[in-house]
Amino acid sequence: MRIAFIGLGNMGGPMAANLAAVGHDVSGFDLTAPMPSGVVKAESVAQACKNAAVIITMLPNGKILRSVAAEAIPAADKGAVFCDCSTVDVASARAVASQAEAAGLLAMDAPVSGGVTGAQSGKLTFMIGGTDAAFSIVLPLFDIMGQKAVHCGGSGAGQAAKICNNMILGVTMIATCEAIALADKLGLDRQKLFDVVSTSSGYSWSMNAYCPAPGVGPVSPADHGYKPGFAADLMLKDLRLSQQAAAEADADTPMGHLATELYGQFVEQEDGRGRDFSAMLPRFESRGHIDG
Ligand code: NAD
Repeated sequence: MRIAFIGLGNMGGPMAANLAAVGHDVSGFDLTAPMPSGVVKAESVAQACKNAAVIITMLPNGKILRSVAAEAIPAADKGAVFCDCSTVDVASARAVASQAEAAGLLAMDAPVSGGVTGAQSGKLTFMIGGTDAAFSIVLPLFDIMGQKAVHCGGSGAGQAAKICNNMILGVTMIATCEAIALADKLGLDRQKLFDVVSTSSGYSWSMNAYCPAPGVGPVSPADHGYKPGFAADLMLKDLRLSQQAAAEADADTPMGHLATELYGQFVEQEDGRGRDFSAMLPRFESRGHIDG
């Protein structure tokens, strides 16, 4: 299949390389990133999109997505699929999809979870918003780049699933970290707390699979000095998208709001930038009850 791939950074680079490695004809464009192995360099977004059956974008935010889409859509063949895998606001995802459809293209939002290691090993999970027709064309590509693709509904549903999932993750990571810091101050051994919580009603992915305490539970970024993993900066981005969506949809998300404020403080005023999002644990350890 002839594929255009726009945005070849930490995530897009290995995703495009995996498509090229199984023999797809991948034409790539990025402002700065080098071409991944097997990907043919295009000189512009428009040149990459010419004659492509599927156009995949993996970009930093909704504003950049809108500008790339404005160049890609007029250059694309009618019937091509515009498939955005970036994490962006729901409004940008829907705006770009309706522009693509108005120009005779098929469109889908397909954000991912699984991080850079998932992108490299072809084990991403895709959350998809779009029509059945678009989904069935791109599904074989999702099978190469990922291990699971969930068709969540119409346009924007993939982004909605992604930010709801990550809002739960941000909130539960904070709750897990503050509980471990409280247990420390109560004189409770961390391993004992893990043994209880991981098999009791307080269990979660944050505690069981990604325990923020070094030396407890499966190996996680906590065991490597909180080197990401999933950076606190990216968690903050996703939490802010959840709050933008909550405002637009008039939804009450007080815990999501508080998690956004805490990660904002952690990344922008404390030492969270560039650290894994589970480094909230040492943050709580160093604070007392009145630090607020
Ligand atoms: P990145 O910054 O490494 O890559 C983005 C790439 O887009 C860069 O190489 C940049 O040069 C390119 N770019 C920017 N503007 C462009 C333009 N106008 N035309 C062409 N290329 C342009 O970011 P990333 O980590 O690869 O993340 C990409 C997306 O995936 C983001 O939306 C992010 O939220 C999401 N995501 C990232 C992770 C992760 O762990 N890194 C996990 C899940 C989702």
